[in-house]
Amino acid sequence: MPTYQHFQEVKKAVPLPDREKIGVCLTCRYWQVEERRTEMLAPRLGVCVQPDLKAFGLIVSGSSACNQWAEKPGIAAEAKAYAEQGEDA
Ligand code: SF4
Repeated sequence: MPTYQHFQEVKKAVPLPDREKIGVCLTCRYWQVEERRTEMLAPRLGVCVQPDLKAFGLIVSGSSACNQWAEKPGIAAEAKAYAEQGEDA
C-alpha cells in the first residue's frame, strides 16, 4: 500500500470503516495540544485522549485522522482549511 500526503487522499483511496466520520487530528477536540491550531502543527505530535482510544496511548500528528473525530470548538479557520484540502464535493 502506498503512502499519502494528506488524509483526504487516504479517505478516497482506501475503503475505511465509517469513512464519512473520519476527521483530522489538527481540528479534533481530543488531540491534547494547547498550541494554536494552524497548518504548522500538521507534522507535530501529540496525544489522543478520546475516551475509547485513550487506553491505547495513541501519539498522533496533526495530519493523522480517525472516525472518532469530533470538532474542537472555536477551531481556527486556517486549521479547517487544511482539513478540507482535496475534500470530496
Ligand atoms: S486519533 Fe481520532 S479521536 Fe484522536 S485526536 Fe485524532 S481524530 Fe481525534
